[in-house]
Amino acid sequence: MNPKISDSIPQEDKDFDKQHIWHPYSSMSKPLPCYHVKSASGVRLYLDSGQSLIDGMSSWWCAIHGYNHQELNDALVKQVNLMSHVMFGGITHDPAIQLCRHLVELTNPKLECVFLCDSGSVSVEVALKQAIQYWDSKRQPEKKKFLSIKRGYHGDTFGAMFVSDPENSMHSIYTSYGPDNIFAEAPQIGFDDEWNEADIEDFKRKIEKHHKIIAAVILEPILQGAGGMRMYNPQYLKRVRELCDKYDVLLVLDEIATGFGRTGKLFAQEHANICPDIMCVGKAITGGYLTLAAVISTRSVANVISGGRTGCFMHGPTFMGNPAACAVSVKNLEILRTGAWKSQVDTIEKILLKKFKPLMESGHRKIRQIRVLGAVGVIEMKNPIDVALYQRRFVELGVWVRPFGKLLYIMPPYIISEDDLNHLVYSLISVATDESLA
Ligand code: PMP
Repeated sequence: MNPKISDSIPQEDKDFDKQHIWHPYSSMSKPLPCYHVKSASGVRLYLDSGQSLIDGMSSWWCAIHGYNHQELNDALVKQVNLMSHVMFGGITHDPAIQLCRHLVELTNPKLECVFLCDSGSVSVEVALKQAIQYWDSKRQPEKKKFLSIKRGYHGDTFGAMFVSDPENSMHSIYTSYGPDNIFAEAPQIGFDDEWNEADIEDFKRKIEKHHKIIAAVILEPILQGAGGMRMYNPQYLKRVRELCDKYDVLLVLDEIATGFGRTGKLFAQEHANICPDIMCVGKAITGGYLTLAAVISTRSVANVISGGRTGCFMHGPTFMGNPAACAVSVKNLEILRTGAWKSQVDTIEKILLKKFKPLMESGHRKIRQIRVLGAVGVIEMKNPIDVALYQRRFVELGVWVRPFGKLLYIMPPYIISEDDLNHLVYSLISVATDESLA
C-alpha cells in the first residue's frame, strides 16, 4: 500500500521548522538540511517531493516490522478507542500486564520484575537508581559509582551521560557536572576474532581496585552503538559477568539498541550466554510506534530494594505504562514471537556479508573497516565525512541512510526485501567509494 502524496509542505512551514524547531544534535543558526516526510509504509519513507526512500535506519533501530503495519495500526486504534492513557499509580490494566508477561517470558528466566518507563534514556536512569538503591538497602551506601567502558553510549539524560564515554564529543561539555564514574578501555577484539585475555585486563584492574565503591557495571552487550558501531567479542562479556560475581557488583546491560533480534539473537547477551541483574530495553519494543522502554531486573534486586529503608523504589513517571504504547508493544512482540524475525535477520546478515565481501577483501583507500552483525552493516571510513553531502547523495540514490562521524551504517527493518536490501547495500558501497566525495 503506497500512500499517495497529495500536496507538498508549504515553504513557510519549512522556514518555520528551520527557525523554531530543534532537531537531534542540531543548530538553530546553521541548521542542516531536513527532508520532509509525509508518510511511511513498509520499508519506504515518502517525501513531500514525491520521492520515496528505502529506509536503512528503522528510525534508529525501532521500526523492525516496517511502517504502517496493519496489525500494529489496528492494535493501537483499538486501544485508543478503549483508553489512551490512565495513571499507573494504584491502577493497572490489560495492555501493561500482557506486555510485562511477554517481557518476562522473552528474557532470561532470572529476569522477573518489570519497571515500565517512557524512553531509553529514562530506563537507564531507572537502572542506575535501582543499583544505587539496592546497595543502600543492603547498608552499603558507599557503593554508588558505576564502572563502564569507553566508547559506550547510554543516552542523553544526566545519569545516562555520566556512564557514557566521557571523551565522546556528544557529552564532553557536561562531564565536569557529574559524578566521577570509572571507565575501562573499550574492548578491541572483534566479534569473530580470536579471544585474548589481554582485552579484559584494564576492566579487571579497575573492578579489582574500585569494587568497594562500585554499585554496578553498565555496558551495551556485544555492540557499542553511538560510540562507533563496534561489535566486540562475546568472551569479553562473559568475563565481565564473572568479574561482577567475583567482586559483588551488579551488572546492568543496556539492550536498548540491540534488543529484540537486531544482532541475530533475541537479546545480544545471548551471544555470551549470560544474564544481567538489571536490563534496559526500548526502541524496537513498540516497533517504532510510540515511545516506551522497560527495565527488567532479577527478583533478588527487586526484593532487596523493596526491603530497604524507603520500602519502595523511588521512581514513578507520569506516563508509566501508557496503555496505548503497551498495546502496540504487545502486538509488536506477538509478531516477533511468531519467529519470522530470526530468518529475516539471518538472511539480511547473509546478504550483507556476501555483498560487502569483495570490498572487504580488496579494501579501499577511504575505508578503514567493514563490519556486519545480524541486521547491522557498518562501513567505517578513515576520515570524518561531510554528513549533509553524503546524506544528499544517499537521497539521490533513493535510500535513507544517516551517516555520523566516520560511519556509514544501516540497520533496516527486518521485513526488507532482497531487492531493496541489494539497492541499499549498493548505495552504501557506491557512496563510500565515491572518489568525488571528500
Ligand atoms: N542506550 C543505547 C544503547 C542507545 O542506543 C540509546 C539511543 N540511541 C539510548 C540508550 C537512549 O535511548 P533514547 O534515545 O530512547 O532515550
